Amino acid sequence: MVNLSTPLSEVYGIGPKFLERLEKLKIETVGDLLWHFPSRYEDYSQVRKIAELQTGEQATISGIVSSISLRRSWQKKIFIVEAKINDETGNIKAIWFNQPYITNILREGTTANFAGKIGLSKNKPYLSNPTYEVINNLDSENSEQIETKHTGRLVPIYPETKGLTSKGLRYLISPILQNLEPIAEFLPQSALVKSGLPEVNSAMAQIHFPETPELAFAAKRRFAFEDLFCLQVSNILQRLKLSKEKAVSIKTDAEWTEKTISQLPFELTASQKQSLDEVLKDLGKNNPMNRLLQGDVGSGKTIVAAIAALAAANENKQTVFMAPTEILARQHYQTFIKFFPNFENGLALITSEQAKVFYGEGLEAEIKKSELLEKIAEGKIKIIVGTHSLIQKGVKFDNLVLAIVDEQHRFGVKQRATLLKNKKLMPHFLSMSATPIPRTLSLSIFGDLDLSMITELPKNRKAIITKAVAPENRDKAYAFIRGLVKKGRQVFVICPRIELPTEEQQARAAFSFYNRAFQNLEVKAVKNEYEKLKNKIFPDLKVVMLHGKMPSKEKELIMKNFKDGKTDILVSTSVVEVGVDVPNAAIMMIEGAERFGLAQLYQFRGRVGRGEHQSFCFLFTDSEAKTTQQRLKSIIEAKNGLELAEKDLEIRGPGEFIGQNQTGVPDMAMKAIQNPELVKASREAALEVVQNDPKLNAYPLLKERLKIFSKEIHLE
Ligand code: ADP
Ligand code: MG
Repeated sequence: MVNLSTPLSEVYGIGPKFLERLEKLKIETVGDLLWHFPSRYEDYSQVRKIAELQTGEQATISGIVSSISLRRSWQKKIFIVEAKINDETGNIKAIWFNQPYITNILREGTTANFAGKIGLSKNKPYLSNPTYEVINNLDSENSEQIETKHTGRLVPIYPETKGLTSKGLRYLISPILQNLEPIAEFLPQSALVKSGLPEVNSAMAQIHFPETPELAFAAKRRFAFEDLFCLQVSNILQRLKLSKEKAVSIKTDAEWTEKTISQLPFELTASQKQSLDEVLKDLGKNNPMNRLLQGDVGSGKTIVAAIAALAAANENKQTVFMAPTEILARQHYQTFIKFFPNFENGLALITSEQAKVFYGEGLEAEIKKSELLEKIAEGKIKIIVGTHSLIQKGVKFDNLVLAIVDEQHRFGVKQRATLLKNKKLMPHFLSMSATPIPRTLSLSIFGDLDLSMITELPKNRKAIITKAVAPENRDKAYAFIRGLVKKGRQVFVICPRIELPTEEQQARAAFSFYNRAFQNLEVKAVKNEYEKLKNKIFPDLKVVMLHGKMPSKEKELIMKNFKDGKTDILVSTSVVEVGVDVPNAAIMMIEGAERFGLAQLYQFRGRVGRGEHQSFCFLFTDSEAKTTQQRLKSIIEAKNGLELAEKDLEIRGPGEFIGQNQTGVPDMAMKAIQNPELVKASREAALEVVQNDPKLNAYPLLKERLKIFSKEIHLE
């Protein structure tokens, strides 16, 4: 007998080569192997008579090998095994390539099942490379019907990996299931009943070797529920844990808030006010805020966060403001100065190459980084702006109370702890995201975060006109752009990469299925595009170039000149993707649009339409692939981010949508997340368990599962 934690190396009959391949997939125990689920099934359930077979179909036959031989094709030097198989209705030829050992397994007189595709050769049907399963050999004593695993049934097909065939996996899994100690059920009985889910042992048997498609489906549903349930329980526990942590309470009153808002050059929208209220209320509590501020691109999230930072600074406490890129960090720093020119408590910007401090109007200076770090550690700087990596790497704070993260959903408890270094108080946490997350997703994946939503754009914004431009209309688009520039507008041009790929890179990409499209398309390189636009298309306009490999000072200057309206056209890589704010820019032109994800395209588009001017987004693509057209269509039609998100979710599935890496959520759960009914049921079940028994004392098995689960999905 084996159990879930039995190492596969102790399971009889698994060779070292196989073990090695399994290890590469992180499959080391019986449990790991059993949780490696088939991705689909092939239906070989009907055993057919040879005389009835049709060319082109998949079928299983049962018959006796009447002859079998091995030969070598003289041309190609490959081994060919040819067998003739008989049943009571006729005979058929079966052919295998490069598997000479088959003649040792299938001999004249062997009864076996054969499953595969029926081909046609010289006008005669034959079985091409069929899967076979010996029912009995003439010399075998045991002639009773044995249970088949490769043929004559719904056959599991596993995700393909080098050296691990579905057949091989079936060989491993089938006997293990026969010798497995019963798996203990960790899901609450009530949840199983309520959602009509099969118990774990039968589900495990059915997911690998289902008797019917319905049973396979029910089993998949159960295991998806399992993951969702774990996700929900860990979210709820996370919430509970944070609610017990202590944080510094930052009090603000209505009068202060009113006064602060009234200094701004614009009036806050209703949902900005509402979000700000929610944030400030959380800051007033002495347990840490854990809030996601969601709002469409350009909806004005930054100011909400900036006011929160200001509130903390007024109490002499520190805030760290983290951005995904240096360009954005710089922009946040400048925005803060623009909104609060009289801020005297110390605002700092750290980039990889420089450090700056601001102490109020006219008091801005570059200082040495080491000096700045000292000041921060002494608490003399209240608001510190920089990139995630820079700040996490080694800034020591004196009294950090608030961490703001731009354009990242999740900032783990561990990451937060790195900011703290042995302090007992947790900082409040506010993350901002323009990626609109459909409710089913946010409920499950970000269930540990409270949500504030900015649901409207500032007044007087016009909808961006978005168009896909076919290659033959390129000149027209250029003429249109020139017209707008002459009226004073500015233009972004986004290209997928800096230089054309080298031949070697192209060759390598050719091997990868996913990159095949990339090889065939003309890749627009920033440099080439820049030269072209500057010298040939718009020699009369001021064209500049920006990419991530430039020195940070140069980037800053280029961005500044563009912001100040000194240049007309900015040709750039995706470094401007998130957050860059240039209200006078009215055209976003995207080259190779098919190469970007929808969320990314959406972000690009959000770079324009930020002022009072009518703005345009032109998507250039040479790809005629149907999916490309479908994706571009959805971005053209989407009225807002949420609508787009839902479409994107439909087209690509949740894994692609938010990026598997970012969530780490298991594949199956990701698919299940699209099933609102299952999400709801798992959430209810999780709440019930945690409310009755927050320490999970009565659920030792669940506790154990959660440990593994949290590790796998990097929740901690
Ligand atoms: P995002 O939510 O995409 O981060 P930003 O915070 O960069 O958006 O704001 C986009 C632009 O809108 C900025 O120029 C900002 O100053 C401006 N803005 C923010 N709130 C308002 C408002 N209530 N009315 C007018 N303009 C606003
Ligand atoms: Mg932003």
